[in-house]
Amino acid sequence: MIPAIRGTHDILPGEIERWQQAEQVVRDICGRYGYREIRTPVIEREELFAKGTGETTDIVQKEMYAFQDKGGERVTLRPEATPSMVRAFVEHALEQHLPTVKIFSLGPMFRYERPQKGRYRQFHQLDVEVFGVSDAALDAEVIEMAAALVEALGIEDAEVVVNSVGCAECRPAFGRALVTALGDREADLCGDCRRRAAVNPLRIFDCKVPSCQPIVDALPHATDYLCDACRSHFDATTGLLEALGVAFRVSHRLVRGLDYYTRTTFEILGGRLGAQNALLGGGRYDGLVRRLGGPDRAGIGFAAGMERLVLAMPDGSGPRAPDAFIVALGDAARQPAHLLARDLRRAALTALIDYGDRSMKAQLRRANRTSARHVLILGDDELAQGHVTVKDMTSGGETRVGRDDVVRNLAGDLLPASPEQPARMRRPIGRDDGD
Ligand SMILES: [Zn+2]
Ligand SMILES: [Zn+2]
Repeated sequence: MIPAIRGTHDILPGEIERWQQAEQVVRDICGRYGYREIRTPVIEREELFAKGTGETTDIVQKEMYAFQDKGGERVTLRPEATPSMVRAFVEHALEQHLPTVKIFSLGPMFRYERPQKGRYRQFHQLDVEVFGVSDAALDAEVIEMAAALVEALGIEDAEVVVNSVGCAECRPAFGRALVTALGDREADLCGDCRRRAAVNPLRIFDCKVPSCQPIVDALPHATDYLCDACRSHFDATTGLLEALGVAFRVSHRLVRGLDYYTRTTFEILGGRLGAQNALLGGGRYDGLVRRLGGPDRAGIGFAAGMERLVLAMPDGSGPRAPDAFIVALGDAARQPAHLLARDLRRAALTALIDYGDRSMKAQLRRANRTSARHVLILGDDELAQGHVTVKDMTSGGETRVGRDDVVRNLAGDLLPASPEQPARMRRPIGRDDGD
């Protein structure tokens, strides 16, 4: 047996249903807010992330699956989605085709990290981006949508955290204040933080090493160094969030680990994963489109880890039981049995059937294992009379139904034609809808 690569995982039947449900909720919520789906390649030029994600980030320095392809080009499996989304926005001049460029994407990302519980080298993200809008109203809408998404997935006890990291104009002053505040404490920092202090002091806020925490807690707050424009942008964002009924906390530690963020940053933490775990995170990145060779356009977005969302979702009811299992007795019944299966499937019912010429007992055993709601038996007797024997596996009752009525009976009184949705997915989103 050749096992899967370390840090990758198969999503199997039994688990995939939760993924499908999560993806359905994602598409539904994104659609309501006017987002269109796009799909970009999982492989890109290495320089896209060196320039986009940032040369000094751990992602680019240590974690990329980068290599030279057979044509001699430096390429990489994408470690995150935002630079690809920016590339697609610029390359296809999307602003000429979409009234507001609101796009989302679902797919795998790749980072060569140390595998831990719930952390994979191939993981999956929802990525949501908007280009060309600087208005703080959008910052609030994006955060409100993220909160609505978490709520629609049935995840409870999640917490919205926001901050502002300022712009190219006011951030240098904050950076200097950080370095001053670190002063002679720098020697007490962990090795990573000492390196961060030299390269990008903002990243010290990301440190999780316990001995660094008292030092990090005492550092100055970015929001105390905002220029007037950044200040009023942040006030407008938080003001609208309050008006929209989104509960949130401002955290000065939320600077996020990537180079491109400007102004608003946010995360949604927790659910049953605990407050240490971000379900999703993002922010504004007004300089990134230009940095990647595009026009000077604002940008804002977030990425959500699908593994985490799926893990934080409440336990669902599992897959729907098949509607029917067809048991064929004897050679003459086999073709009519397959025809019956076809008719049931065309009526949007789930119909299973056994293969190979096996005994009634063996077929019934298999029917039981599938948890089918009905077993439909076709033998010489049934064929002669144009009937099907229908066993209701819930009540144990058995009836004979005319062949021409079976499909209608099963389709009519038993089952909706489309897969059931849990009630919460149909509920309108928002805070006042019956909690
Ligand atoms: Zn500023
Ligand atoms: Zn540290």
